Amino acid sequence: MATDTPNDPAAGSEADLTGVTPRRRPKPEMTELGGRKLKPATLMMGHGYDPALSEGALKPPIFLTSTFVFESAAAGKRHFEGVTGKRPGGADGLVYSRFNGPNQEILEDRLGVWEEAEDALTFSSGMAAIATVMLALVKPGDTIVHSSPLYAATETLIGRILGRFGVHWLDFPAGASRAEIDAILARANAGGRVALIYLESPANPTNALVDVEAVAAARDALFGESADRPPVVIDNTFLGPLWQQPLKHGADMVVYSLTKYAGGHSDLVAGGVMGSKAMIDPIRAMRNTIGTITDPHSAWMLLRSLETLELRMSRAGENAAKVCAYLRDHPKVERVGYLGFLKDDLRDGTQADIYRRHCTGAGSTFSLFLKGGEAESFRFLDALRIAKLAVSLGGTETLASHPAAMTHLSVPDARKAALGITDNLVRISIGVEDADDLIADFDQALAKV
Ligand code: PLP
Repeated sequence: MATDTPNDPAAGSEADLTGVTPRRRPKPEMTELGGRKLKPATLMMGHGYDPALSEGALKPPIFLTSTFVFESAAAGKRHFEGVTGKRPGGADGLVYSRFNGPNQEILEDRLGVWEEAEDALTFSSGMAAIATVMLALVKPGDTIVHSSPLYAATETLIGRILGRFGVHWLDFPAGASRAEIDAILARANAGGRVALIYLESPANPTNALVDVEAVAAARDALFGESADRPPVVIDNTFLGPLWQQPLKHGADMVVYSLTKYAGGHSDLVAGGVMGSKAMIDPIRAMRNTIGTITDPHSAWMLLRSLETLELRMSRAGENAAKVCAYLRDHPKVERVGYLGFLKDDLRDGTQADIYRRHCTGAGSTFSLFLKGGEAESFRFLDALRIAKLAVSLGGTETLASHPAAMTHLSVPDARKAALGITDNLVRISIGVEDADDLIADFDQALAKV
């Protein structure tokens, strides 16, 4: 988007047939050069922003305003027709900061570039994004079919909060086969309307992958093009957007905790949703109503972060490969749950197949299974000197945490056991430090286990 001043004389020449001047002049965006499609890393430096409309500022200013002045009453009416859904296509001007804003719109344009999505929205947190999507799609009596495990707050939202409003759920394990997915969908459909199929892949904290192509094919086989065809929504926080792009494998919408790799510096909390305009429109309407949009400052910080996204994720991925190679052979380590180690054997075969079809990199977040239990895990965590003992992931710094005692503490013990969230599981997110320094840190911490 481009910001504009209400009295810009040049804008007058673009008045449309309603007599209302679009506040955001459609600026031809440069997305290719000499027949070459420009890459996201290039587009992150300027896409969606015209410095000429903001005093020549190279970077967009932060627009700290709660509301925007309309150039005429007719323009205000037209914008509200878009905001309220009376006219399809959304608002074509800036209205009120609970609905839209320049920083958020530039960010949404740039996020869409990474996933090659038609439309994108940003939210005040990953959970705000997930909750807004679900509130927009479910009604009492509906069923949500989801993969397991999920990030614990997402499980709480589906099971305990939406459950209070008469929404049911049925789940299947992340690595489920097409036949298992078919069976769960048929069971859910027999019990009422299936509102959405919600996936998380890789799953937090086990790194288990979901076969998105199989889920989409199972959905298509059961529902065809019927009006009740449930969308496939996937949390792409762990590998996206660099190493996995599920819209290309049959998902209808991707959701993100932008707090993680996209933000990348552990200094903001935000969320995102990307998909086709038809999918995104009802989510935007719900966001407009409940006000879960990201704030202008966080949006600006994310624009800064997206400029280095590829650099940061690539370096973190290279570091993780080196650290995991070291950890794998350590005598105090039972197993390293790192996607780069999936083998075509009996245990990993299905996961290795999904990985080859869906992923272009193994990421930098993995599970370290120590020999022992909680005591050994805690000794290891307490001994780390460079890696920080903190939940979250995807930042420039290396973090380590204990899911069973921290992020997934609220998950009942029996379910934790069934999902493989064990006491000897330490989750590690590798950052962009020097890989050999990190190895030295893990080496000295393992010596104290
Ligand atoms: N999805 C996944 C996979 C996560 O790991 C998290 C947070 O850790 C979330 C969603 C929630 O994101 P946020 O903390 O930004 O609300």
